Amino acid sequence: RPVVGVLALQGDVREHAAMLESAGARAVAVRRPEELAAVHGLVLPGGESTTMSRLLDTFELLEPLRARIAAGMPAFGSCAGMILLAKQALDGRPDQHQLDGLDMVVRRNAFGRQVDSFEEDLDFTGIPGEPLHAVFIRAPWVEKIGDGVEVLARAPDTPSAEGAVDRIVAVRQQNALATAFHPELTGDERVHRLFVRIVQGA
Ligand code: GLN
Repeated sequence: RPVVGVLALQGDVREHAAMLESAGARAVAVRRPEELAAVHGLVLPGGESTTMSRLLDTFELLEPLRARIAAGMPAFGSCAGMILLAKQALDGRPDQHQLDGLDMVVRRNAFGRQVDSFEEDLDFTGIPGEPLHAVFIRAPWVEKIGDGVEVLARAPDTPSAEGAVDRIVAVRQQNALATAFHPELTGDERVHRLFVRIVQGA
């Protein structure tokens, strides 16, 4: 079984660990550089990206994590984790760290107050069968992607000044995967299985 870490500074760590275990991985908590060095891939959970960013400094994980991601370690970020993995975050704090695992710009808390949290069934490229039930909690969306980034899912008919538009909510670039929503909360382990396959192929 591949060993997949869950960044355990803050956020919904246990939920991800449970999903990884049922998706065929051995899940371990990562808080220290030595623990990071021992995993084949890493999940960055949902939570609060500014807090996690600050704790990456405190735990001296920022540079080791950047280095491993740059070297191709598989990484999967959900919600706050997606924000951390991005190259740039809009509406973040000016001192918020970015891990630059995906060539994209995200917008924090993008869906706005009236739909702070919502659920939606999504078509997800690479996950056949039933649509994926997605839970969004003060979620970001992806505002811009580079050439190497593949869009895996969009949230349809999101209100905007130009009328209803589709917003990108799941992406992949090589070994980096990110979702604006929380697949760890729904009991559907298909996204975690996809990530475990990425880890196995890396
Ligand atoms: N709004 C949070 C942030 O900016 C993310 C919310 C979540 O992970 N559910 O970090």
